[in-house]
Amino acid sequence: MADRSELTEYEFRKIRARVLTESDVCIVCGHGHADAVDHIQPVARGGARRSPDNLAPIHGVKGCPVCLRKCNNEKGDRPLAAVVQLVTSVDWFAGP
Ligand SMILES: [Zn+2]
Ligand SMILES: [Zn+2]
Repeated sequence: MADRSELTEYEFRKIRARVLTESDVCIVCGHGHADAVDHIQPVARGGARRSPDNLAPIHGVKGCPVCLRKCNNEKGDRPLAAVVQLVTSVDWFAGP
């Protein structure tokens, strides 16, 4: 069952700080200095809203200082697996 109770800003900051203390390596691009966290399994799709196990570091509005991607924007509300698949399947982009 999805956790439908709302998370307060204070609670979310606490969880975010805890996740970022353990790691700041972005789950989308793999670089460090992530400043936000995102749900691995989106809450809208049944992911746990407040479980640190379902949260991972990600680059937020400032983007990644290394590759300049806006990882959280790219991910949106898709499951992480879908995003990582997109990121790694770049062969079609190489051209002839
Ligand atoms: Zn990133
Ligand atoms: Zn990056």
